[in-house]
Amino acid sequence: MADLLTLDEYRAIAAALDLPQNAFIDGTFRPAVSGKTFETVNPATGTVLTHVAACGAEDVDLAVSKARESFDDGRWSRLHPGERKDVLIRLCKLMTRNARELAVMESLDSGKTIYDCETVDIPEAIHVIKWHAELIDKIYDQVAPASDNHIAMVVREPVGVVGLVLPWNFPLLMLAWKIGPALAAGCSVVVKPAAETTLTALRLAELAHDAGLPRGVLNVVTGSGAGVGEPLGRHPDVDMVSFTGSTVTGRRFLHYSADSNLKEVVLELGGKNPCIVMDDAENLDAVAAHVVNGAFWNMGENCSAASRLIVHRDIKDALIERVKAHARGWIVGDPLDPQVRVGALVSKAHFEKVSGYLVTCKAETVLMGGAVVAEGFIEPTIVEAGRTSALATEEIFGPILTVIHVTSFDEAIAVANATDYGLAASIFTANGKRALRGARALRAGTVTVNSFGEGDITTPFGGYKQSGFGGRDNSIHAHDQYTQLKTIWLDLTDHADDSAD
Ligand code: NAP
Ligand code: MG
Repeated sequence: MADLLTLDEYRAIAAALDLPQNAFIDGTFRPAVSGKTFETVNPATGTVLTHVAACGAEDVDLAVSKARESFDDGRWSRLHPGERKDVLIRLCKLMTRNARELAVMESLDSGKTIYDCETVDIPEAIHVIKWHAELIDKIYDQVAPASDNHIAMVVREPVGVVGLVLPWNFPLLMLAWKIGPALAAGCSVVVKPAAETTLTALRLAELAHDAGLPRGVLNVVTGSGAGVGEPLGRHPDVDMVSFTGSTVTGRRFLHYSADSNLKEVVLELGGKNPCIVMDDAENLDAVAAHVVNGAFWNMGENCSAASRLIVHRDIKDALIERVKAHARGWIVGDPLDPQVRVGALVSKAHFEKVSGYLVTCKAETVLMGGAVVAEGFIEPTIVEAGRTSALATEEIFGPILTVIHVTSFDEAIAVANATDYGLAASIFTANGKRALRGARALRAGTVTVNSFGEGDITTPFGGYKQSGFGGRDNSIHAHDQYTQLKTIWLDLTDHADDSAD
């Protein structure tokens, strides 16, 4: 882990940053064909950081054609896996060398705390790409059990040109989750970062170029969802789209695919994730630390945020006291201050959306917080709300924890499952059988027991129900998204004797 600097030192680095502005296509930075730009703002201060290329369909066409060219001529897709590994490992080294710059850039662009950028986002992004890189030359294909006269091979091939459409909450890390396996598999990619957070994706593309990634293999097209995301989703020459974002937008990609070329679509979507704490949970103080981390980490702008605390009535008050004590230690403020744990929400629009839920809180029982600290900043808030309240059902994506009490384990599971989402869930109980029964009964892609978390790079991540579609990120299973299976059937029958007759 990096040694953290002081606020003044981070400010000095921020002031000296050279911010990228142009899209990255075919190995070079280019303005939008239209010449248009949009402002990218530091949400902590409201100041304009720089102006970024506002690309459109014509830029998407160019990026896709360059990606296609690079895929078809095999400069990456048919490179020896060991050589692909070497390039990606070199990229990881360059990212490590530039980690501090990436962390400050990410914090400025998104409002995320420098603490998280330095300790999680950037090191994890490097770790994820390295993990997939090291995997490339250790994966074997299969030979099927055919007759003695045949050999049937089942081989994996890269799916082709891939569109990667990203959210703003973990800009570089989500990019790493997708380019790690996509590039490892040999695909060529066109990335559309969230308009709010384009800077680290552009910088990464430059580092990848410096690491020796051939031109055209990794393109970054900046712009809006309508201007870039939709043309990418509808493009007839894109073979697959991997998307992370809201369920509303994710659904559109299925339409785009159906209306165009039936491209593969993988969706990682939202969540309203339950955290169940039963009356036999051990060490409520340790549980409280997990609850606070689950709810308030990354300002609650986390698809797997544990935003519903489903707690047994008998321990509710004792647990809430401890949760409040831990939450008081989460300082709200300047994201560049290394002491701060709760930074700025990503944009004015998102801040206003989350502030609206604070108004909804007033009709319920606010147990802690409930106020705006300053424009862009909301304090950690805990509210006890009815089960049908918007606070208990809608994904808020802000630092608001909703408490619901129950009187039995079966009731806890039923409440936890009473949602259209199914991304993640946690159970705290000392009863091992109950924990396992619960883990099976919860309809979620990841269930953690006696902790909050998402697993790690070795475990698949994705959602049940309306939290996901078509595949998983992370682990070796992520490669399934970016590869397709081919059967090669060889007939070994010796016909030499036949012709001799
Ligand atoms: P979003 O609005 O769905 O945006 C995601 C991406 O889609 C952005 O790049 C966005 O572009 C683009 N987009 C927007 N409208 C589009 C359209 N009509 N056609 C094509 N592309 C379009 O989500 P967000 O607000 O960035 O992120 C927050 C959401 O992501 C939350 O709901 C959260 O739960 C979810 N999330 C899920 C996971 C997961 O792994 N399951 C991880 C992180 C976040 P713009 O930048 O122009 O808006
Ligand atoms: Mg920004």
